[in-house]
Amino acid sequence: MTALRTLYDLKLDALADALVLLRVDFNVPVKDGVVLDDTRLREALPTIRELRSRGARLLVASHRGRPKGRPDPQYSLRPVADLLAELLAAPVAFVADCVGELARDAIRDLSSGDVCLLENLRFHPGETANDPEFAARLAELAQVYVNDAFATAHRAHASVVGVAERIADPAAGRLMTREVAALGRLLGEPERPFVAVLGGAKISGKIDTALHLLERIDAALFGGGMANTLLAAQGHDMAASFYEVEQLAVARRLLETAAARGVEIFLPVDLVVTTDLADETASSNAVTVPATAVPPGTMAVDIGPDTVNRYRDVIAGSRTLFWNGPMGVFETPPFDLGSRRIAEALTATEGFTVVGGGETAAAVTQSGLAERMGHVSTGGGAALDFLAGKSLPGLRVLETAATPSGSPASSER
Ligand code: ADP
Ligand code: MG
Repeated sequence: MTALRTLYDLKLDALADALVLLRVDFNVPVKDGVVLDDTRLREALPTIRELRSRGARLLVASHRGRPKGRPDPQYSLRPVADLLAELLAAPVAFVADCVGELARDAIRDLSSGDVCLLENLRFHPGETANDPEFAARLAELAQVYVNDAFATAHRAHASVVGVAERIADPAAGRLMTREVAALGRLLGEPERPFVAVLGGAKISGKIDTALHLLERIDAALFGGGMANTLLAAQGHDMAASFYEVEQLAVARRLLETAAARGVEIFLPVDLVVTTDLADETASSNAVTVPATAVPPGTMAVDIGPDTVNRYRDVIAGSRTLFWNGPMGVFETPPFDLGSRRIAEALTATEGFTVVGGGETAAAVTQSGLAERMGHVSTGGGAALDFLAGKSLPGLRVLETAATPSGSPASSER
């Protein structure tokens, strides 16, 4: 795997008084001007602190939401600036545009160690289009470019790719570096047994990742809608359960590939079923049934206790673990129980545990167990693409081999 150029690779004095454009992922939920989840801000703090302490004048840039290429107040980053200031215990100036006159004015006022947050990159259509002109306007603001937005690394957007191509020696921030190290460890020489726990809603969209992992793992434990589709592919009647009718052939391919590779497949042996999730009686109507006997008119919404016990044993014996996808409809307790028990099992192993996926990471954070995992990835789609063996555009531009000044790269990736 090719190495990324990191903050350590920047010359010691390269940052002193330099204008540094730092791409972060502050795509956070905001309601009534209040940031509801500050995880993404906290994740960026180590890089921001290091750049400040090395004397940079910081221009922090991010996208938020999907504002369709024009200013839209509901997607403004203004509320984020206040929270960032609080977390840093330092002033953070907010700049109402990420390029042009306003940005240039703001830069003039910056001293070494100062931070300003630029308005949403996606208020310009050139961002998602990776428009060369827009990338050039961003690039002209700074002398150094650092990308810490791992969750956006699978997008060839202007602030991710175009800018990195226009500023010499673009570098990965600490979060980016940590993500690539942890996920890269899974694709490198993971300690065995290597077990993947795969759940969530859909098999489509995750099939590439699952197939790539099958080449490396010793066992796969399935739950959630994903398991429903696999059970249906085996010919079981899933009644009113969520599953992907049009993915049954793909599901069969997954099972066949696993068998051909000698990967042990575990499917739920029991399931928690209920009638209507929207119904207030959904939890009181819930019963546990054999996975092969889902009663007509009911839907499987979680893995049952026997399944949890079997999965726990496999997890306990593993040395490397990757988990993506909740085991059930965790948003509606008590159907979070299966996911909760799996999270607990992960914290109990001595193996290296990696959790990925937007909802899975949220579930683990909610249960207060995130600190006890080896790594909780902030990259939803980016992490899945990485583990599918795809080359991420945002990483490619940070690889040391990309510039002649970099150190020699090895073959893969
Ligand atoms: P991630 O974001 O971690 O990759 P996904 O988006 O694939 O995870 O899946 C999360 C969603 O899967 C949750 O909204 C959850 O309710 C849903 N889900 C899990 N199990 C089931 C199930 N048995 N039936 C319907 N939906 C499910
Ligand atoms: Mg999701």
